[in-house]
Amino acid sequence: YAKGQGRNNFQCFTSSMNEKVSERLLLETGLRDALLRDEFELYYQPQYDFARNRLSGCEALIRWNSPSGMVMPDRFIPLAEETGLIISIGAWVLEEACRQGELWNRDSVEPLSVAVNVSAVQFRPELVDEVRNVLDSTGFDPELLVLEVTESVLMSDVDSSVLLLQQLRDLGIRIALDDFGTGYASLAYLKRFVLDKLKIDRAFIMGIPEDRDDVAITSSIIDIARHLNIMTVAEGVETEAHCEFLRAAGCNLAQGYYFDKPLSADEFTQRLK
Ligand code: C2E
Ligand code: MG
Ligand code: MG
Ligand code: MG
Repeated sequence: YAKGQGRNNFQCFTSSMNEKVSERLLLETGLRDALLRDEFELYYQPQYDFARNRLSGCEALIRWNSPSGMVMPDRFIPLAEETGLIISIGAWVLEEACRQGELWNRDSVEPLSVAVNVSAVQFRPELVDEVRNVLDSTGFDPELLVLEVTESVLMSDVDSSVLLLQQLRDLGIRIALDDFGTGYASLAYLKRFVLDKLKIDRAFIMGIPEDRDDVAITSSIIDIARHLNIMTVAEGVETEAHCEFLRAAGCNLAQGYYFDKPLSADEFTQRLK
């Protein structure tokens, strides 16, 4: 009996493993063709400026319109990173975001910044030339381009990161530290990395105003950033209470479902009007 059960368990194990492997293979094959078939699309989530009481920028978020439906980035970015496909996907994102950003700014009086997420795999010396070339070819104002990196990206090699961030900023662009507070960078690194914006992770905003720890952590991040002359962006702002707390605490910008979900380029254009 024990033997039979063992064999069954083994079969279950291999068949679920096969499923995982073939799902991954399907995803990977699809991902390879996705650029050629023009299946990626950028959505743009508005960012609101508390002081000016208006929309002042957006974050570009990739979507994959695969033949079997829309796939969210959490499902394919990790695989794109493992396979190295993120290099060409990331280059497409950068170019598309700058192209669209230039169009929006051409038609508007108020400047609109566009933030682009950069993966660890892309964060290498070649990125400087890539960004410079895209700025040249699209004519997008460097001051309006924000690159979002995470703590773990910077911490994997601190000295090279310091240098790379400096070279990127020399192009005139801005740097934001994404998901701040969830990684393992110490406060001392806020001094070494030249940063323009800190994005306070959604995990802290979620607990506001009930959770006293989240309230304390969020206000402290805002205070420290202000003293270091770094702007704060709250992620995952979902309620009026989040919004009122952040405004009173002196947070600069907010992004979240309370204002808008990520919008297609057309929807975003409508929103601007
Ligand atoms: P992220 O950069 O931290 O982006 C914020 C995520 O939070 C987005 O998920 C956004 O849709 C979601 N979000 C915004 N407001 C709210 C809210 O009020 N509540 C909740 N629950 N969620 C909210 P999304 O678009 O699924 O992207 C997930 C992650 O995928 C991003 O996290 C980013 O790390 C990565 N990603 C997205 N686009 C790109 C890209 O073009 N390149 C790279 N390398 N990574 C990307
Ligand atoms: Mg981001
Ligand atoms: Mg984030
Ligand atoms: Mg994230």
